[in-house]
Amino acid sequence: MTEHKYQAYNARNFREITQLADWPASALREIETVARVLPFKTNNYVVDELIDWDQIPGDPMYTLNFPRRELLRAAHWQRLSRAVTRGLPEHDLKSLVRAIQLELNPDPSSQSANVPLLNGHRVSGAQHKYRETVLFFPQAGQSCHAFCTFCFRWPQFVGFSQSRFSGKDSQTMAEYLKIHPRVTDLLITGGDPMTMRAGVLETCLTPFLGKDLAHLRTIRIGTKSLSYWPYRYLSDPDSDDLLRLFDRVVKSGRNLSIMAHFNHPVELSTEAVRKAIIRLRGTGAQIRTQSPLLHHINDKPELWAEMWRQQVDLNCIPYYMFVERDTGAKHFFALPLERCWQIFRQAYQRVSGLGRTVKGPVMSATPGKVEILGVTELNDEKVFMLRFIQGRNADWVDRPFFALYDRTATWLNGLKPAFGEHDFFFEKELKGMLTARMQPMG
Ligand code: SF4
Repeated sequence: MTEHKYQAYNARNFREITQLADWPASALREIETVARVLPFKTNNYVVDELIDWDQIPGDPMYTLNFPRRELLRAAHWQRLSRAVTRGLPEHDLKSLVRAIQLELNPDPSSQSANVPLLNGHRVSGAQHKYRETVLFFPQAGQSCHAFCTFCFRWPQFVGFSQSRFSGKDSQTMAEYLKIHPRVTDLLITGGDPMTMRAGVLETCLTPFLGKDLAHLRTIRIGTKSLSYWPYRYLSDPDSDDLLRLFDRVVKSGRNLSIMAHFNHPVELSTEAVRKAIIRLRGTGAQIRTQSPLLHHINDKPELWAEMWRQQVDLNCIPYYMFVERDTGAKHFFALPLERCWQIFRQAYQRVSGLGRTVKGPVMSATPGKVEILGVTELNDEKVFMLRFIQGRNADWVDRPFFALYDRTATWLNGLKPAFGEHDFFFEKELKGMLTARMQPMG
């Protein structure tokens, strides 16, 4: 296949994008200004094949990649744009930007407390929150083919060292796994690990493929490359090497699950993504799909139903609908929890059983993955029914619990226990875990 040359655009060179040639200077300046706070990167595939430039500014793929003033709260936008217009010295501008970033909750769900210890030392680039699953963030995969404006890992891209998970050494990770035989799943994540060259990824994965880690049954790779750069599997110079590597992972007797991130059906519509999915599946890898529910991008049940139907057509497995996390530009993308549930159930009702592998809406919150089962009335009280799909304590999983109905709540921490309880059943134990830096059970 003809090679497609990847061209990234960011705050420095986005003015070269042909489609922006006639835009007024003020609109371009707005992009640049917001991009000081939130990371901005797109590429020629997104610009030329996914964005419908006749639908700006409402086009979902444009909204997904291009900064706009509404991503900042009004007060932040006013302070920053005034400072830029007044020509504040760069050093002072940087301080202002960092102050704004610190107000955007750069460590959502206490991720930094998930870092495990090996021989008394932190395993850098790792998170171990749930008993069976460990996350590894290889250093070479700390970028993406494009950046999502809603990204919950945005602090990793703007230089927050305390929020950066980045591991050079997968051998240390493998040593940690050897002494944790209850871990069955390893999720390689980032950024996007599929920005790594095939050879670098092979070096990273090899320590996990040996017989000495027989309890490790699944290698998952979290990626948005199918959506943002499907040529990764078709025509990049090392595409074939990459597929051979996946073949090798499958031949090691493990399940290889590509955790593919799709936010809108348009991302499944191009010839390139469809061919890439066929090639990937040809290695024996499974593709599971997930996305947050995002105001202005995919907040309609028919879009989700269409996305799940297309994914099943393409032999992918719908996996998660997430609630937008409490970080970054959350105020722009978030929806009330009840609305999330309504969108989920209306979409779920429209697909056949094969699309109902999906779980949601789910909050990846500090105590675990909490699913909203619905809104109902019990003992004359209107309540949310909830359950853990994953918990810091495995014993919390699948226990129903109830929160007082709240019309405006958008996250778990906005909910209060129902039926006059002071705390949710897990809160006391959670506090203890946080205090003890939350060592996972092994
Ligand atoms: S692909 Fe994932 S990590 Fe990368 S910008 Fe999007 S949400 Fe963030």
